[in-house]
Amino acid sequence: QAKAAGGNTLRFFNVDMQTSVLERASLEGDLHQALARDELALHYQVQVDHQGATTGVEALLRWYHPQRGWVSPGTFIPLAEENGLIVPIGYWVLQCACEQLAKWSHQPAYAGLTISVNVSSVQFQQPEFVRDVEGLLAQTQAPPGRLVLEVTESLLMREPTRVRNTMLKLRAQGIRFALDDFGTGYSSLSYLKRLPLDELKIDQSFIRELLTDKTDAAIVDTTILLAVSLGLTVVAEGVEKKEQLDWLKGHGCYRYQGYLFGRPTPIEYLFETY
Ligand code: C2E
Ligand code: MG
Ligand code: MG
Ligand code: MG
Repeated sequence: QAKAAGGNTLRFFNVDMQTSVLERASLEGDLHQALARDELALHYQVQVDHQGATTGVEALLRWYHPQRGWVSPGTFIPLAEENGLIVPIGYWVLQCACEQLAKWSHQPAYAGLTISVNVSSVQFQQPEFVRDVEGLLAQTQAPPGRLVLEVTESLLMREPTRVRNTMLKLRAQGIRFALDDFGTGYSSLSYLKRLPLDELKIDQSFIRELLTDKTDAAIVDTTILLAVSLGLTVVAEGVEKKEQLDWLKGHGCYRYQGYLFGRPTPIEYLFETY
């Protein structure tokens, strides 16, 4: 609970990985109810091009816990992956994103925007995944070409042939794929060649000290060159400063996401924030 045993000391919910076993168990119990109790929300963060135009958004899950307040996805997504709840939760996220795409498809100002959805490896590897996505597209009438599924390097390492087949089936529908957090996992470069990827997202940990850390700068520079030569769109995550933007632009990266352009926000405020 938020109130500590003694006096009037307030203890805030600890969102880092130090979370105690008891807290994890209680959080996990609450997560089971979260969907039914309507505590989950989807926020959206803009992605922009080198001219400052919005090209799309990334959907980011939020959990408003009745006692603890906002719980970070960094805390509850791993829990949901362990206990399988990520499957219904991930389905709900995809459903919201498809409904939003369908709405936008009737509004000329927004019809060209993409929505990127994070897909957990656990969710992606469900035998029903392709059928679920196809069902949602049919049911909502969302344009499949505007849906981008973000996968991580950890997925690509498992059963590469099956993963590839699943990706090919979805790609045949027009769905695109982004490799998220690039550089933080253990992906072999051969995956980049073999898998039907469209986009590569440079992890924010390399962008943070881009201007002062020569190693980060070298990694980002090389990643941009690699992506471009493989014909992939390269997106820089975590862009917070104008100087980072200028550096990226000067080095051939033309797609960005980060606080410089806008924080993740509820859909109704998305285009009022900047
Ligand atoms: P991610 O997919 O790499 O998402 C980007 C994260 O960077 C988000 O954190 C976003 O709020 C944060 N961010 C964006 N711009 C900046 C910036 O300029 N500076 C800094 N410091 N951070 C920035 P968030 O929302 O806490 O999400 C964390 C992770 O949780 C995501 O990383 C993703 O892996 C996972 N996640 C979020 N929503 C979902 C979901 O619906 N399904 C699944 N499976 N995972 C999700
Ligand atoms: Mg992502
Ligand atoms: Mg990322
Ligand atoms: Mg991440």
